Amino acid sequence: MDNNNYQILSQLIESVISKMRTFVDKDNERFFSDSELSQLSEIEVSFLSRNSISRHGLTTNLDKSKKLTSSNCAVRLNRKLFEEKYLEYAKFVLFHEYIHCLGNFSHDKNFRQLENLWPEKKQMNIIGRQLTRDLQEVKARWAWTCSKCGFIVKRSSRKFRSNYYHKECLGKLNNVPIIRPTSLEH
Ligand SMILES: [Zn+2]
Ligand SMILES: [Zn+2]
Repeated sequence: MDNNNYQILSQLIESVISKMRTFVDKDNERFFSDSELSQLSEIEVSFLSRNSISRHGLTTNLDKSKKLTSSNCAVRLNRKLFEEKYLEYAKFVLFHEYIHCLGNFSHDKNFRQLENLWPEKKQMNIIGRQLTRDLQEVKARWAWTCSKCGFIVKRSSRKFRSNYYHKECLGKLNNVPIIRPTSLEH
């Protein structure tokens, strides 16, 4: 990992952990202890593979034969999270993965309660859906275009029948490949 990526990730880790330090219940008790937070800070965080289009973040156990714990896990994050518009959301994704790292494996009620501690939770869900759409958009290779109204749906597979019609206006749909400029090599 180059220096720049390393710096981006360590800044993210630091900002998530310091935010988690501020989460207290009504008796002013912290939700995450110093010891838990220091365990979290030791966990390796890296990027998902470049063609990962469906996941925002992923926590896995390093030793597959052992249970996932904070000392037996690694977190990987989608690179797209590090685009300017997703940076705030990236913190929330890392927070989500950290909850898994602390031994909460499923998205059960307890998990969601912890996740809800994040201040802008609703907004985060909205940005999350936007990122999902964004990732799918990148993957789209085919576009169904309506010959009548110009409506376009993007698809990742070629599967298409010649008798497809646009439900809204009943115009005939055409399937056209999306041509992308090949990225510059350097
Ligand atoms: Zn999860
Ligand atoms: Zn139409």
